[in-house]
Amino acid sequence: MVDTVWVEVQQRLRACLLAKDFEAWITPLRATRWIDRELVLEASSGFAAEWVREHHREAIEQALGEVAGAPACVRVVVNRALEVPRAERRPPRRATAETTAATGAVSRPTPAARCTFANFVVGDSNRVAYGAACAVVEHPGTRFNPLFVYGGVGLGKTHLLSAIAEASTARRGAGAVAYLSAENFVNEMIAALRRRQMERFRQRFRGIGTLIVDDIQFLGDKQRSQEEFTHTFNALHDGRKQIVVASDRAPHDLPGIDDTLRSRFAAGLLADVKAPDPVLRRALVARKAAEKGLELPDDVVEHVASDWCANGRELEGVLLRLEAYAMLAERAITLDLVHEALAPYVKVRAERPTLARIVAEVCRQFELTQAELTSSSRAARVSVPRQLAMYLCREHTDEPLNAIGAELGGRDHSTVVHALGAIEQRLQRDAALRDTVTRLRQRLVG
Ligand code: ADP
Ligand code: MG
Repeated sequence: MVDTVWVEVQQRLRACLLAKDFEAWITPLRATRWIDRELVLEASSGFAAEWVREHHREAIEQALGEVAGAPACVRVVVNRALEVPRAERRPPRRATAETTAATGAVSRPTPAARCTFANFVVGDSNRVAYGAACAVVEHPGTRFNPLFVYGGVGLGKTHLLSAIAEASTARRGAGAVAYLSAENFVNEMIAALRRRQMERFRQRFRGIGTLIVDDIQFLGDKQRSQEEFTHTFNALHDGRKQIVVASDRAPHDLPGIDDTLRSRFAAGLLADVKAPDPVLRRALVARKAAEKGLELPDDVVEHVASDWCANGRELEGVLLRLEAYAMLAERAITLDLVHEALAPYVKVRAERPTLARIVAEVCRQFELTQAELTSSSRAARVSVPRQLAMYLCREHTDEPLNAIGAELGGRDHSTVVHALGAIEQRLQRDAALRDTVTRLRQRLVG
């Protein structure tokens, strides 16, 4: 709620303040509460708070009154956690996991890169995950332990993990939190093994209160890393420390993960993030556009929300394109401009392959008939292409695993899970198959 209000207020302020004033004073503010007709805004320093009170309070309250439909007031408070040295601004967000891995702690978040609770847009599809994420910050190691967040690409998993990391760090200090990707966990472990510094590696995770690991599916088929991770997991869990994990699928769908670890994950809270519904899509478009300072007419918001917001990542890509196109064309963003700017992409989207199309391409590639591919034959010349077809279906469609299994001759869900793992493994050692996959992908996505 507070977010929606603040986005609306900002949109109005943008229209009435000078752009540079808006950027300098309004953008860095964070709205934290909207209760009893009072909006609480946090500024990063006493000076900034003072300045906003002196120069912009009236404008903010005016806008707030319009948004709320009745007079309302604003209170500006100081939160030094928001303060960030200039040089640190605007690093690519994806670097967070790396930088943190090196220090074992969460580096200070930066405004441009911030993925916080405050700028996470909540809807039906992610409410449980959001609530659980807030809860583990409030009461780590108690109720939802581990918290296992899972779902498709761009649906806000990393955003939520960053928010947990940031909020936990703000409360308990950097030393209490370790936030890294599973890939970094593996890399660091391998480096430690090489240097015979396993003890030091393990030490790093002792004494922390919250362990946050992103993209845990990366541990699939990595025996040694899984053992080590399980070890760390158990030590922390026994000590009632909080563990948060994100994955692209549910524990029982994860290929190549040991059963012990799988059941450890499943024993906690499983919170999925689903594709956004129309209400959330509209809120996301409004929010992301406001963050970028883009003014979008209603029909554009509507169009982008319905056609270009399958997930947060797609939306951000599209807004970037619209912004660039509008700037280069020196035109405002209207519905016409949007159609023009996105025309080349519509084609690609329309051609997103179906299951049937993938099956057909794989048959063509391996000179098999569809009947052969979907038969019960276990001969490698048929079973490998069949598994590969499942793998490509998983990669290029959003179809559930049982639908993929059905398309490939009525196989069940666990057969598909097995196939995905088998292909991933095979790809690591079979260069010819990798080439084939590359060629198939090119054909599939044009
Ligand atoms: P995932 O890790 O699930 O693939 P990310 O967390 O990286 O997805 O999200 C992709 C982008 O979309 C990020 O920039 C993120 O901030 C944005 N995003 C996704 N969902 C939301 C949301 N509910 N509210 C705000 N931003 C979101
Ligand atoms: Mg992610």
